[in-house]
Amino acid sequence: MLAMRPVDRALDAGDCRARLEWASECCARADLQLTAARRAVLEFLCARTTPVVVETMVSALAASSCGHFVSFYRAVQRFEAAGLVRRVSGAGQRAVRLACAAADSLVCRQCGRAVAIADLSALHELERRVAARTGYRIQYHLLEFDGICHRCQRVNTVLPS
Ligand SMILES: [Zn+2]
Repeated sequence: MLAMRPVDRALDAGDCRARLEWASECCARADLQLTAARRAVLEFLCARTTPVVVETMVSALAASSCGHFVSFYRAVQRFEAAGLVRRVSGAGQRAVRLACAAADSLVCRQCGRAVAIADLSALHELERRVAARTGYRIQYHLLEFDGICHRCQRVNTVLPS
């Protein structure tokens, strides 16, 4: 069984740094220069364990710093095109996540709430076995669960359909 933890799990600095390194390598491979706006978007995403609603992120970044809304939206588009960032299907396509293994999460199909998957040891074991069987050096995987969260399950049973 995979253990779940609530949304606001603090991400430790090491995890965050590892993601930033991964993202920087992806940018270098894709020939994407790290402009101030792109860096701000990456840092925002790397510091979070769950998918992020694009509008929320862009508003926060535009309010706090160094760039215009348009630059942040463009940065997200470029990252999507380069495969660093992908849309999360369970959240009405409004949320994005890093396309790296460390960002695996579980998303509610109905309200878009997401929880980080805290214990991925079973998955790491699977990755190890797949690598051993195929001889591939696995660099990352994408894993997306979606379902209905506790709150939405309660609302569904209370409301007449
Ligand atoms: Zn929900």
